[in-house]
Amino acid sequence: MNPFPALIDGYGRKIDYIRFSITDRCDFRCVYCMSEDMEFLSRDEVLSLEECSRLVKAFVALGVKKVRITGGEPLVRKNALWFFNEIGHLPGLNELVVTTNGSQLAHMADDLRRAGVRRVNISLDSLDERRFRQITRVGELDKVLRGIAAAKQAGFDNVKLNTLLMRGINDDEAIEMVAFAIAQGIDISFIEEMPLGSVNHARHSTYVSNEEVLGLLRARYDLIASNESTGGPARYWQVPNMKTKVGFISPHSHNFCESCNRVRISSKGELYLCLGQEYKVDLAPLLRQSLYDDESLKQAIVSSMQAKPKGHDFNFKKVEPAVIRFMSYTGG
Ligand code: SAM
Ligand code: SF4
Repeated sequence: MNPFPALIDGYGRKIDYIRFSITDRCDFRCVYCMSEDMEFLSRDEVLSLEECSRLVKAFVALGVKKVRITGGEPLVRKNALWFFNEIGHLPGLNELVVTTNGSQLAHMADDLRRAGVRRVNISLDSLDERRFRQITRVGELDKVLRGIAAAKQAGFDNVKLNTLLMRGINDDEAIEMVAFAIAQGIDISFIEEMPLGSVNHARHSTYVSNEEVLGLLRARYDLIASNESTGGPARYWQVPNMKTKVGFISPHSHNFCESCNRVRISSKGELYLCLGQEYKVDLAPLLRQSLYDDESLKQAIVSSMQAKPKGHDFNFKKVEPAVIRFMSYTGG
């Protein structure tokens, strides 16, 4: 029998989903996510992949059913496939999913599928090569499009695009992005920009609400509200007679804290109980204190749930970000 109780926080929420950033590094520098001269963690600060794997196993032993591997760009981490193979078929883990910028999928999609990855989210903010470069600062659109094609071929349960629209930059592409998703036979979710990291552009002036995007799309498509949930905060709409669903992840316009079922882990092994708050529990010392005994690690994870706050502190009207931490650090 499992000697540990399920992960329940102080507000009675059951935590069965972790998002794990296995690297803060990335081959892109998206304007809303990173600064141009981003400083990354030194290699010895970052957990080894063996430590990452032990951490995932501890959470799964405590009842976590869904694990999202993210970053930075998780697929640029050296030997990432070894890690996916280690955790991909753990008993009790129902869903291993990845969030990626797609740049490495052309050569990794098949191996990820074989390793047990069920679903892939690919971030794509523009279909215009020049704009794509402007947003990612260094990314190549063509590489990502080839990655999307490979992901579709690899037979994942689901491939979904994540799109972040910014006013005056790519907000005129909402309909085109949905048309692309329909043509590809995949889903798409729109994410509202969150005030994380340093202020490298005036976010309150680029922020586009999902209400606005939905309004634009409904003028073009007869979207039907769907009850479907993937265990996350997205609300979905079905494009009639098509495979494609359109999701909206709206941390500002719809606060989803009350049904939050997740915690985040940084590549340094810090457990963040809420994306919008600074409080964290450092699990790295517990991982390093004993190579063979993870009982104190599990105990610390169970106790830390009591520190999960009721909700996030984002406030759009403020110019300063609520949290001085980049999304690439804790993982989006
Ligand atoms: N590199 C991978 C990628 O781009 O998908 C995984 C990490 S990235 C941090 C995960 C997601 O976070 C991306 O979909 C990105 O659009 C989103 N993201 C980054 N910064 C954000 C911000 N300030 N507000 C909202 N979403 C953000
Ligand atoms: Fe890299 Fe993803 Fe952040 Fe873009 S959003 S800079 S791809 S981690």
